[in-house]
Amino acid sequence: MFNILIASQNIKKRNELLHLLPNTYNVIMPSDIDYHDNVEETETSFEGNARLKAQALHNFALSKGLNAAIIADDSGLEVEALNGAPGVYSARYAGVHQNDNDNTQLLLLNLKGITHRKARFVSVIIYQVLQEIHVFRGEVQGTIAYQARGTNGFGYDAVFIPTGFRSTFAELTADQKNLISHRAQAMKALVNFIKQPT
Ligand code: IMP
Repeated sequence: MFNILIASQNIKKRNELLHLLPNTYNVIMPSDIDYHDNVEETETSFEGNARLKAQALHNFALSKGLNAAIIADDSGLEVEALNGAPGVYSARYAGVHQNDNDNTQLLLLNLKGITHRKARFVSVIIYQVLQEIHVFRGEVQGTIAYQARGTNGFGYDAVFIPTGFRSTFAELTADQKNLISHRAQAMKALVNFIKQPT
């Protein structure tokens, strides 16, 4: 069976990725091979940071003699009225030691009085096999709500209303979110790619 290692320490994000992968692969979690590093995201693009995460886990797996393809995702929220912020800083918008709720509240504060609320989530997924790297990107457009609503999901889900919906991501079920999310779109492209005969 084909080994795939998922390079994410964010459990909720990892669960979404897992859910989107067909169960014909042998999925290995970083903790299964004792990998607990949180790669510092020093790049200024989602792709750059996803590449860093993939390469770090690839090197670690090699050092353990494990032959596996790596899937690494870097994602975030881009808000038009804030010139694309929080962007690559989405996870640490309110500071490195703050949580999802702090990030969301800071976003609402920074958008106070602003009626232009257009935003998008972006996910860039790197699929790395040895030194061969493939890049997949997904986006979902929407708007930022005036207050947080819903309890499902993670991150900024409670304030993101995808285009065509009235509910925030946090008010949708996981299955509903997984049909339209940025991560789902990038994963779909990746799965199609893996399925292609070589
Ligand atoms: P990273 O990709 O682990 O660096 O972090 C991405 C950050 O972007 C998360 O911590 C969230 O704040 C935000 N984010 C990415 N995808 C989603 C999503 O599907 N819902 C809500 N927030 C997200």
